[in-house]
Amino acid sequence: MAGSNAVTSTAQEPDTEPETARAASAPEAPSSVVASPSSAVAPQAEAVIDLDAVAHNIRILNEHAGDASVMAVVKADAYSHGAVPVARAALAAGARELGVATLEEGLELKHAGITAPVLSWLHTSDADYAPAITAGVELGLSSPRHLAAVVDAARRVGETATVSVKIETGLNRNGVSHEEWDDFLVDLARAEAERAIRVKGMFSHLAHADEPHHPVIDDQCERFTRALDDAKHAGLVPEAAHMANSAATLTRTDLRFEMVRPGIAIYGLSPVPRMGTFDLRPVMTFRSRVALVKKVAAGEGVSYGHTWIAPHDTIVALLPVGYADGIPRALSGRFDVWLGDDRRPGIGRVSMDQVVVDLGPDGAGVREGDIAVFFGNGERGVPHAQEWAEALDTIHYEVVTSVRGRTVRTFVGGPDGPS
Ligand SMILES: *Cc1c(COP(=O)(O)O)cnc(C)c1O
Repeated sequence: MAGSNAVTSTAQEPDTEPETARAASAPEAPSSVVASPSSAVAPQAEAVIDLDAVAHNIRILNEHAGDASVMAVVKADAYSHGAVPVARAALAAGARELGVATLEEGLELKHAGITAPVLSWLHTSDADYAPAITAGVELGLSSPRHLAAVVDAARRVGETATVSVKIETGLNRNGVSHEEWDDFLVDLARAEAERAIRVKGMFSHLAHADEPHHPVIDDQCERFTRALDDAKHAGLVPEAAHMANSAATLTRTDLRFEMVRPGIAIYGLSPVPRMGTFDLRPVMTFRSRVALVKKVAAGEGVSYGHTWIAPHDTIVALLPVGYADGIPRALSGRFDVWLGDDRRPGIGRVSMDQVVVDLGPDGAGVREGDIAVFFGNGERGVPHAQEWAEALDTIHYEVVTSVRGRTVRTFVGGPDGPS
């Protein structure tokens, strides 16, 4: 199961109007737990996840992958989009395999009944690998210690663990180091002969993938190819080599090998924003309902510290979403929302639970209960996650993975049809 800070999920039409009868009869319930679509009022903070956009993005990636197969990376709860529904949508649209960071993430997919290959690649060497081996989670190996632990667990449960070797080629994070490589290959061949493991893949990760012409990419590719040769000489012939993340999949077809490993592009965000959208469609719309509309007189301050003072009489809207839900406080006064058919500036400090936007003196016809979009598809003036990334001096990966707290996920579209 996802971690305790995960957003809750529900499948319902995003535009469901609040049911007025509910408030009178419903017992007290935590606001972040939506019991069922029929008893739910539209969420105050909501991440609408468009599974048809996932399918579209997988098709784009498959086109770029050519003969290589696509491993859809759904780590970190599918970049906070919901691992199981995104995984199912990606597989239905043509992804062949799934990639995650941790054993728990791999087990969550297997326990949900997903039968496609799932590779998990970031572990401590003292982890308990037995449940993952039994459940059929494939394991990335990054050192002789990791290999020994997996072999030990495989012997204990009496099964063959399917493994992929993560090779250090220049990122200098996770991966078998050059110094340990020769000994590692000896151990690996021995373990495979013993049938404790089956070596299915060899992979590596790029340091400069978002700079398609960077010379380090070629260095890494050369080291990777050499390591594959070493493995071959040790009698190991894995069926799949892979090193391309989203950026490399879309910009360096020479790095396809047998499989590509895109993550962010599945979620419709360009891995190289300055090169355009690659026709990807953003999957997440982060939005909220207007809790309150009120007048603020000229000279009055809004929110903590009164960092914004009304320059004239105006009307503001209160949105019940704050930094605990994924709107960084550093965005105070530096973001717009889409509301009442136009962009409205966020004013004053972002607080834990709420933000305020200025509607102007006439209020723009906005009413309590209307929907405001923090970021979404970026079309016709709707803000895009990349805008937040630029304002915050970060990348959109961090923007979408920060959506949390009381935000409720609503899935639309997908392989099972409209929800
Ligand atoms: C996260 C990750 C990916 C996906 O990267 P994107 O830039 O999101 O496409 C691929 N491979 C590994 C090893 C990763 O950790």
